[in-house]
Amino acid sequence: MKRVYNFSAGPSMLPQTVLERAAAEMLDYKGTGQSVMEMSHRSKAYKPIIEETEALIRELMGIPDNYKVLFLQGGASLQFAMIPMNLKKKGKIAIVDTGVWSDKAIKEAKKWMQVDVIASSKDTAYDRIPKVEKVSGDYDYVHITLNNTIVGTAWETLPDTGDIPLVADASSNILCGPLDVSKFGIIYAGAQKNLAPAGVTLVIIRDDLIREDLPAEVPTMLRFATHAAEGSMYNTPPCYSIYMMGLVLQWVKDLGGAEGIGRLNREKAAVLYDYLDSSGYFRATAQKGSRSLMNIPFLTAVSDPEKAEAINKKFVAEAEKAGLVNLAGHRLVGGMRASIYNAMPKEGVEALVAFMKKFEAENK
Ligand code: PMP
Repeated sequence: MKRVYNFSAGPSMLPQTVLERAAAEMLDYKGTGQSVMEMSHRSKAYKPIIEETEALIRELMGIPDNYKVLFLQGGASLQFAMIPMNLKKKGKIAIVDTGVWSDKAIKEAKKWMQVDVIASSKDTAYDRIPKVEKVSGDYDYVHITLNNTIVGTAWETLPDTGDIPLVADASSNILCGPLDVSKFGIIYAGAQKNLAPAGVTLVIIRDDLIREDLPAEVPTMLRFATHAAEGSMYNTPPCYSIYMMGLVLQWVKDLGGAEGIGRLNREKAAVLYDYLDSSGYFRATAQKGSRSLMNIPFLTAVSDPEKAEAINKKFVAEAEKAGLVNLAGHRLVGGMRASIYNAMPKEGVEALVAFMKKFEAENK
């Protein structure tokens, strides 16, 4: 068996020990004679699985008691709609535009609300997080994308929104390090990058934002109150993905929790950024001060567009042969992108940098 280093933006790598444990428990989970995939979500065997997963996420993220943890479906994309439907009161929100995913949140929110785009980095092709220090106004909430998967930027300092709930899409950096949950009204994330296989969406929501008094036409399944009242068991939850999330969280805990994984992620990202900043051939696209620890897009120094395209293709193909896969950049940025989520080992990033040095020497 040969495992590759998978730099996919998502779904992405899972820790090998987690996969091994899932494999070992596949046919007979803890003497039940069944796999977790086959169990009733209301069975005695399954109940502790979802409870332990929630307890772990609460422990690792330090989630205060006045927040609910929900395991939903529909991806982060459904949250773009569900959040405005559930939080609309005054009918106006503020969003910071940091790229494709915040743009999708804007488009969806506009179906329900007046949307003020209070800052944007569109003018520099989203290569930075715009400065937003203080937000005030008659807003139901302020929305930010904590980590921008495509352009590789991340918020380093959160805006001060005072009493206005801060809502954050953390799909591509959830639990990549310590985060003060009490600063947010809602944190949501599709699980398929840092937490689990696809299928489950984590929503961490402050109790006062779970409202019963919604317009009658808001569907039952799209109300946070429905899922909060039923412990994410109003209908069949994504049982297996929640089980896998529990295993991944235990793995994070064993690495030293949010602090431990945060340290490791900073070290990993530094290996790649240090090389990109010192190489005359490759360069990172995101500006310093806004750089993501999770998604690192980079370009070569080849300026002619056709030649650059050819060299990018060559890079991606040769990297694949070397066991470094899914390095093609997003079409909006071009070049290459290395997504190095929690489960990417430091050795994977070191192998990538060694490959890049060799490629630089051969193609300069
Ligand atoms: N937000 C961000 C920041 C993302 O990276 C993605 C997926 N790449 C999404 C939202 C959409 O997530 P989903 O596919 O879970 O709907």
